Amino acid sequence: MSDVTPLLALNWKMNKTPSEARAWATELAGTFTGQGAELAVMAPAIDLPGVAEALRGSRVAYGAQDVSAHASGAYTGEISAAMLLDVGASYAIVGHSERRAYHAETDEKVAAKTRAALQAGLVPIVCVGEELPVREAGEHVAFTLNSLRGSLEGVDVRDARALVIAYEPVWAIGTGKTATADDAEEMASAIRGELRRSLGDVADRVRVLYGGSVKPANIAEICGKANVNGALVGGASLELDSVLGMAGAL
Ligand code: PEP
Repeated sequence: MSDVTPLLALNWKMNKTPSEARAWATELAGTFTGQGAELAVMAPAIDLPGVAEALRGSRVAYGAQDVSAHASGAYTGEISAAMLLDVGASYAIVGHSERRAYHAETDEKVAAKTRAALQAGLVPIVCVGEELPVREAGEHVAFTLNSLRGSLEGVDVRDARALVIAYEPVWAIGTGKTATADDAEEMASAIRGELRRSLGDVADRVRVLYGGSVKPANIAEICGKANVNGALVGGASLELDSVLGMAGAL
């Protein structure tokens, strides 16, 4: 997988007001030099116009933390892929475990969002991962691959090249508990195998990220594994120093 550019995606979650986001992105644009990894800020939707302005001309991409499955219409509160593209977004997180848990997003809903993003030309970062009891029962691989299949249902192979998958074990998100690098590789390799079965050779172009308490001290070991092509980072994505540290380690 060495010819795939690693992706460091920063999931700010519901943090940073529009003015804080703009100031932070301005500082990032002035300091990030490209260091071999692609960097993408996944900001709250209301922050995106300011982030876009601050990052114009820089090497930093940006995106949203969710996207509607619908193109337009009577869907109060939702934001379409076309709206995100209009502010220059390249990515949208889809099926984050917090959306699955607090907004009842099923694999079926996630698949509809994945298809909507891909058809519009927005890159979905599709999140999958197991809860602790599933891992303790030794069923994490089967569970996650099943969720992956459901979350990609109906995706056109011709669109799939742009896909990003994030393996995020729920028990490691925001808890300080990180999967070991070998755990991350075990799942990333299983995900790659599943993608090969469903999508063919395109699977080798799909970036498979790990997410769950990633920080400057552990990113190099986890992302040094053969099938791990970067990270989706929550808590450690809020401070500029730690972001630059992580980008430099990739
Ligand atoms: C996330 O929100 O996707 C995440 C991985 O969070 P954290 O890095 O804080 O565990």
